[in-house]
Amino acid sequence: MLYPIYLDYMSTTPVDKRVLKEMIPYLGGIKSKNFGNASSKHYYGYRINTAIEIARAKVARLVNCDINNIVWTSGATEANNLAIKGISLFYAHQGKHIITSKIEHKSVLESCKYLENNGFEVTYLSPEKDGLIDINKLNNALKQDTILISIMHVNNEIGVIQNISEIGQIAHSKGILFHVDAAQSLGKIPINLQDLHIDLMTFSGHKIYGPKGIGALYIRKESNLHLLSQMNGGFQENGLRAGTLATHQIVGMGAACQIAMQEMEEDEKKILALSKKLWKIINDIGDIQINGSLSKRISGNINIIIKGINNEVLLSSLYDIAISKMSSCILNNESSHVLKAIGISDNLIENSIRISIGKFTTKHEIMFVGKRLKEVIFALRKT
Ligand code: PMP
Repeated sequence: MLYPIYLDYMSTTPVDKRVLKEMIPYLGGIKSKNFGNASSKHYYGYRINTAIEIARAKVARLVNCDINNIVWTSGATEANNLAIKGISLFYAHQGKHIITSKIEHKSVLESCKYLENNGFEVTYLSPEKDGLIDINKLNNALKQDTILISIMHVNNEIGVIQNISEIGQIAHSKGILFHVDAAQSLGKIPINLQDLHIDLMTFSGHKIYGPKGIGALYIRKESNLHLLSQMNGGFQENGLRAGTLATHQIVGMGAACQIAMQEMEEDEKKILALSKKLWKIINDIGDIQINGSLSKRISGNINIIIKGINNEVLLSSLYDIAISKMSSCILNNESSHVLKAIGISDNLIENSIRISIGKFTTKHEIMFVGKRLKEVIFALRKT
């Protein structure tokens, strides 16, 4: 192997060559004509503005929403902050109770913590053992002053898919706003915002073969929503997100969304087949347990407990494979809050690894990884 096999697609994805090709012209000089500031009222500004609006339309198309409902951010972290803090602080006079879950991404949990420190009350729902949120528990958590529910679509560690359709119906029947972190589902499973009761949805560029440092927040303008901007400065993005727009990143995210629109179905079929193959090999090793629901799960995620094997020891033995212990947004000495929340003991968390497969993974790589895992696990279990 010339370089380690990459099976950490939920951490980030490599930029698709076709995406890169579309981005490069926007990093040129004067002769490229594509360097302007989107806010400038002259030839160069108008050119850039057009490119940005085309990219915005591509994101909107992938989730079937109006182009005016998409606001650019620097990534899903910023979009989650803007959604949760922006909505809660704007609507604080209507209520100060928020519902989320214990398995959300840190950018959601930390935004909620910030609000708790500023007079809000947050209910953190415990998922079931399979990682799914029990709708009855959600119903029981609702209060008179609940203003926002924030539940992720696909979990970044265990890949489980929440029932955002049902949660949205509950939220809207009670007049509560609903935010969904879709960083791990965009471009992988179909999202049709016209069929869902969702007010805010978070997206990230680098999970869908686009560049890092770009994301977007869907804000349902039809319901006349307002948010308190989290960035003080210019009036870009209608005052919701100040700062000169990063044209090359935006064009890249648009291109990635366009490709996802065309190729998602085929990619997912391929990824599912590879994932099943690898899961079979791994499962045959014995004393392996999957974390989270097997059926309500994104096709590329395998998160497993390998009994008797410390994950750090395993990862250092697998120098030729890039997989991870858990989310990359968690400090190395921290334990996984997701696995803990689904009832996995500290000991077994230390035996857990996350493998995530993507569109560039090959059958050859899967067979190699399966063989290596088998060899290394057998060897480590003997010691
Ligand atoms: N939410 C989820 C579910 C994620 O997986 C991630 C990335 N790990 C984020 C938010 C943050 O995304 P970004 O890196 O674009 O800020």
